[in-house]
Amino acid sequence: MKHELITLPYAKNALEPVISAQTIELHHGKHLAAYVNNLNNLIVGTKFENKDLETIVKESDGGIFNNAGQIMNHNMYFLQLTAKSEGKPSGKLLSAIEDAFGSFEAFKEDFVQAGATLFGSGWVWLAADKDGKLQIVKEVNAGNPLTKGLKPILCFDVWEHAYYVDFQNRRPDHLKEMWNIISWAEVEKRY
Ligand code: MN
Repeated sequence: MKHELITLPYAKNALEPVISAQTIELHHGKHLAAYVNNLNNLIVGTKFENKDLETIVKESDGGIFNNAGQIMNHNMYFLQLTAKSEGKPSGKLLSAIEDAFGSFEAFKEDFVQAGATLFGSGWVWLAADKDGKLQIVKEVNAGNPLTKGLKPILCFDVWEHAYYVDFQNRRPDHLKEMWNIISWAEVEKRY
């Protein structure tokens, strides 16, 4: 099974000034494209050759896991972004966030803090357990809470390639700005 680079449902400059067209060109067009090419090359002749991405992420390790994980993570990341954010979630996701973190504002602060304090490269996740209870999960490198039996709901990429062109070393500033481009309609579909 050949894995494909996702098509973005918005123009390259649609997320400016939070994420520039140049960052989209590099992040989607170079970094994510490389993970897709790498995975397609690595799985040839292995038991993962005809497996879907989720199965590969759950069952592989090493280079295959790193590239498959990065594809799964980035597909979720890019498809949850929009030029027209609703500003906050609604319905049962909002209730679950308030139950777990006290308020939506407190959740946003905790989430940014988790991303800001993740050492090196990785991802910060909002994830749900089997009962729907939400938690913030930090994962290094290509990690995904799926491998811990949790359901990923929202993710911010804290690899430098996600923000360095636009924010240089100011990762916390980038993370705070990310709230302006989240499509809560997309995020709510996962919960
Ligand atoms: Mn990335």
